[in-house]
Amino acid sequence: MKILSVDTGIKKYPIYIDSSYGSLLSAFEEAGLTGRSVCIITDTNVEPIYADEITALLEGHFTRISRYAFKAGENSKNLSTISDFYKFFIDNHLDRKSVLIALGGGVAGDMCGFAAATYMRGISFVQLPTTLLAQVDSSVGGKTGVDFLGNKNMVGAFYQPDFVYINTSTLNTLPYREVAAGLAEAVKHGYIRDKSYLDFFLENREKIKALDSGALAEVVYGSCRIKSDVVSRDEKETGLREILNFGHTFGHSIETLSDFKMLHGECVAVGMLAALCFSHSRGTVSSEDIQRCRELLEYFELPVGIHDFDISAIYAQMFNDKKTKNGVISIVVLRSIGDAYSDKTAGEAEIKAALEYICK
Ligand code: ADP
Ligand code: ZN
Repeated sequence: MKILSVDTGIKKYPIYIDSSYGSLLSAFEEAGLTGRSVCIITDTNVEPIYADEITALLEGHFTRISRYAFKAGENSKNLSTISDFYKFFIDNHLDRKSVLIALGGGVAGDMCGFAAATYMRGISFVQLPTTLLAQVDSSVGGKTGVDFLGNKNMVGAFYQPDFVYINTSTLNTLPYREVAAGLAEAVKHGYIRDKSYLDFFLENREKIKALDSGALAEVVYGSCRIKSDVVSRDEKETGLREILNFGHTFGHSIETLSDFKMLHGECVAVGMLAALCFSHSRGTVSSEDIQRCRELLEYFELPVGIHDFDISAIYAQMFNDKKTKNGVISIVVLRSIGDAYSDKTAGEAEIKAALEYICK
């Protein structure tokens, strides 16, 4: 098992990375959370695979273990589901000392975290992410929330868990398309912060794609290390944390225009290519760097181009991004591979030129 730590200044908590749930009970003991009432929040896909195992491991160490499974999918990520959670908590007598367990992908994590942040003005929660995207990205950093009227993550709160426990063997049941989507975010971490981590992907692509357990553990560890370092330095995204949006200004627009038919990680993959082209136009990365990224993403079966999208529509949609303030678009640009900054000077022509590369 490997352990990392997130320290936002206000709260410090561990991230455990293991290949089973064998040390989960110890993690609860270490956090001083046993002897309470716990509620597992999960979705209808994950519940039948993992919830019984978790319950059996915790039984006898908590006063009560309840479980709530919402219908799997992003469509459930709304205030009506949160309202169902609250009713369930009241029916099951959850109080200020109770603990919520987010068991599942980003949807379970974001909603469980938001419920924990708001129920009785805040109760403890822990993250047990089961998708690669959640393991390398969304379970770390304390962003919680729900979608509202078609706007992703419009309502939410920064609220940190008491610990994150990642069992990488849960990836064995995850559909490959979801694995690939998580790989896109992981590759992103290499580009913005650590060239040697990116090189690990380039050198071990076969093992990673074959879900070799050692290689996946390296990927999860590498990404969590980078993400926890960034959010520890800037919890609320007032500076450094912005670099995590590499590829996202382009990606979010594409995600919205695809009516969310493309997965977030898939949009980040094409968005990242556009961001590399943008960086190239600023004279930093080389055309070989762009080609290398393209080949890597293609190898992981991620999209490297989009069809039937209108460049002007993507550009227009970028002004609706949460990160666009006062009409100024932010684009994360690389100074070099492994070093990024958020740029606020991008012009229309430059942005559209980067989009040309990914629009077929
Ligand atoms: P994400 O983590 O990508 O933000 P979700 O939480 O919606 O998104 O998870 C993606 C899909 O994968 C959902 O349908 C979810 O039920 C399913 N899922 C999550 N974890 C696993 C797993 N370990 N095995 C199989 N399916 C899973
Ligand atoms: Zn993302």
